[in-house]
Amino acid sequence: MGKLLIVGSCAFDEIESPFGKTGKILGGAGTFISLAASRYDVDAAVISVVGEDFPQGYLDLLTDNGINIEGIEVVKGGKTFFWKGRYHNDLNSRDTLITELNTLGDFNPKVPEDYKDAEVVVLGNLHPLVQSSVLDQMNKKPKLVVLDTMNFWMDSALDDLKDIIARVDVITINDEEARQLTGEYSLVVAAKKIHEMGPKFVVIKKGEHGALLFEGEDIFFAPALPLEEVFDPTGAGDTFAGGFSGYIASTGDTSFENMKRAIIHGSNLASFCVEKFGTERMQDLTEKEITKRLQRFKKLTQFDIELN
Ligand code: AMP
Repeated sequence: MGKLLIVGSCAFDEIESPFGKTGKILGGAGTFISLAASRYDVDAAVISVVGEDFPQGYLDLLTDNGINIEGIEVVKGGKTFFWKGRYHNDLNSRDTLITELNTLGDFNPKVPEDYKDAEVVVLGNLHPLVQSSVLDQMNKKPKLVVLDTMNFWMDSALDDLKDIIARVDVITINDEEARQLTGEYSLVVAAKKIHEMGPKFVVIKKGEHGALLFEGEDIFFAPALPLEEVFDPTGAGDTFAGGFSGYIASTGDTSFENMKRAIIHGSNLASFCVEKFGTERMQDLTEKEITKRLQRFKKLTQFDIELN
């Protein structure tokens, strides 16, 4: 069983999509990454910070899924991070309506002693200095460090972001953000430039159009499963990162061939995440459903062709 350490937000989210609105529900990148990674044979822990208003039931949900939550700090009298977003009709784009950092504003992550030697570390979307601080606390170089980030940090903390990018093995980033980070339109050229910044593996997420994996000259493409029902894309990227990292940690294999399988596992779990609001679908998901959909992925992408 591989040891996996996750850092990311645990949050209250409020979502508006063309299919309805939610009140305050469970969200946060750390939550989505953890729930996805827990589907694999891993010893996983999450580091985060919440306020006293964060329901015990949400913490229990993580524990019930086998996630160690020793690293979640509950700040007395504090308020939990709150994010509100509204999706446009195509569900591919969204506006952030509210970001209240609250306790996340002075988050000082503390890696639990037992996880300072984790083989795989996932740095969820947070301030790059918070992500760096987690790596600084490790007492053994992890086999694989996976970084997720977003345009917000490119706009507000670019130098710090470049420093952490230089320290990771895998970066997951969406297509628009890859273009913003490198100033290149072509994703192939953008991936090359990101390689030069440090990461050996570059994963570019293209929402409903799948994901690309680059390692030098090698490229792999995984489609997103065409779905009949998409309600809420929130957390799809984090679920992808959690599935990807959980699979790698459970297999202990960081070869390009295994990364390809990990991309499919991540895409598979993300396809469930979007079918209901928030974490709802990830909570009622069965192993049978996961395997069945992996078979659909296989069918979708396999073909025979005769070449001379
Ligand atoms: P995604 O849809 O993959 O971009 O992730 C959405 C999740 O990220 C939501 O559940 C939010 O709570 C969380 N989130 C949004 N903005 C931030 C931020 N600035 N820092 C940390 N987490 C965030």
